[in-house]
Order: sequence, then structure tokens, then C-alpha cells
Amino acid sequence: MAYLIALLATLFIFGDSAPAPSGGLDGSGEVTIALDPLTEPREDLPLPRVTPARGEDPPLVVIDAGHGGRDPGAASPFGERLEKHVTLAIARAIRNDLAQSGRVRVALTREDDRYLLLQDRYEIARRLGADLFISIHADAAPSNDGARGATIYTLSEVASDRHAALLAQRENSADLVGGARLSQDPTVNVILIDLAQRESMDVSADFARILYREASSVFPFRPEWHRFASLVVLKAPDIPSVLFESGYLTNEVDVAYIHSPEGQRQIADGMRRAVEAHFARRFLAARRPEA
Ligand code: ZN
Repeated sequence: MAYLIALLATLFIFGDSAPAPSGGLDGSGEVTIALDPLTEPREDLPLPRVTPARGEDPPLVVIDAGHGGRDPGAASPFGERLEKHVTLAIARAIRNDLAQSGRVRVALTREDDRYLLLQDRYEIARRLGADLFISIHADAAPSNDGARGATIYTLSEVASDRHAALLAQRENSADLVGGARLSQDPTVNVILIDLAQRESMDVSADFARILYREASSVFPFRPEWHRFASLVVLKAPDIPSVLFESGYLTNEVDVAYIHSPEGQRQIADGMRRAVEAHFARRFLAARRPEA
């Protein structure tokens, strides 16, 4: 199994001009795996700056501010606030907190009001070699203004309930806005990619639990705080990924909180503690001798 995981660590995508993928071992002992070539991201995808951190080979976290540019996300009935603005403010607050603490490197998928394809968001994380991907959003429930609190989504092939299925539809439609094709199931080396994805899904669920543990005393979560949905932005097969719905734009208390500097500071504080606890745990697990 360790052999297989070593192979999975070298997943990457072919360019158009690359030879047809064999999926086999080459002389270097690496296996190369093509994802669906129809959904390959742009060659010229600009990579964001990465903040430095202390220590040898510190882990890298990519924070993704959901929506942006011509995709505003959800709108709040209170003060006409847009999701794309609050996601960027929260993402920046998390980045600043993590950078100041200096235990992990951190990058944002966007630092201004620009449109990015969903697949470009996780592709930025893959090209940077990220160890964790966190996509920031704000929820909306127009027919239930009592709904409030944060929710953490991790990837599931089958959405866990109707609400999650609707969310998947709403968040994924951002790519349709851009006229791009959504990710299809990988056509090559399905089994290897599937195994990598399952490993990432397990680690993603671990991180979701740590985030709840570290942050639920700081800001409110929904009673069903962990949900599963088939979200394109979480589909990097080799990077643990979560989508964090910070609160409800349709709830007056939530929207005031997630828009306030104090609310954003508290969210960033909870997120930083969770990120640092997550990597401390994985570092210790990696050092533990095999039984
Ligand atoms: Zn969103």
C-alpha cells in the first residue's frame, strides 16, 4: 500500500501536446496519470504568491475565495451584500492569520474581484503542490431566514441529502457561467485516481472534524455541521479539500457577523487553529514507527 501511495503522490496532468498517457511506470518509477483532457485548465494559469513559513518543508494551504468577477455568488437581502465580497474578506483574514503565525505557507486563489473557473481553483492548488485546499463560501436559504451557522462540506460522489444536492448544483453552475465543460470522471487510470481520491476524502473528513472541534466554541455551526456533496471545486484527487460555508447571507445575524471585521477575525482564528492542529497531527502520525 505504501508503494501505491508513493505512486499516487506523483499524479499530474498532461498538456495537449504530451504523448498519450500510458498510466504505467516509466524509468523514473513515477506514474503519470491524465485527467480528462477535455477539461484541462489553461496553460497560462497565473500562480499566486505564497507566503513563507518557518521550518523545513512547511506545508502549504491554498485558501479559495468563492465566486468573483461576473459570478457574484448569492446575494443577501440585508444591505444587498454579495457572497463574492465576503468570501474574499474572510479568505484574506485567514491568509493573514496563517501567515503571521508562520507555521504553514499559504496562498489565495484570488486576491481581487476576478472570475476563476472551478477547475482552475483546484488546479492552482495542484500546481503549487498544496497539502490542503479550503474553499470559502457563504450560504443562502431564501425560504428559511431562520437558518444560520457554518457548514463544512467534503466531497461525496452521492450528495448526502437534497440540500447538499441543491448546493452542489448552485456552486457547480459557476463553471457553466463561464461556458466551460464541467469535470467528467477521469477516463484513464480510474482505479488509481479513485484510490487517491478516497485517501484525500478521508483526510478531508478528518480536517472537517478538527475544524469543528477548534472553531465551534468561537462561532456558530449548523446542527448538521458536516455534509457531503459532489462539488467540482473539491475534486482535486490528490489534495484534501473542504468547502466552508461561513454562515447565511439570508440570516440577518449571520450576515452582520460574517461581514464584520470581528466576525472575520474569529473565523480566521478558528481556521488557523484547525489548520495547525491538522498538520501537527499528520506530522506526528508520519513519525510514528509502523507497528
Ligand atoms: Zn458559494
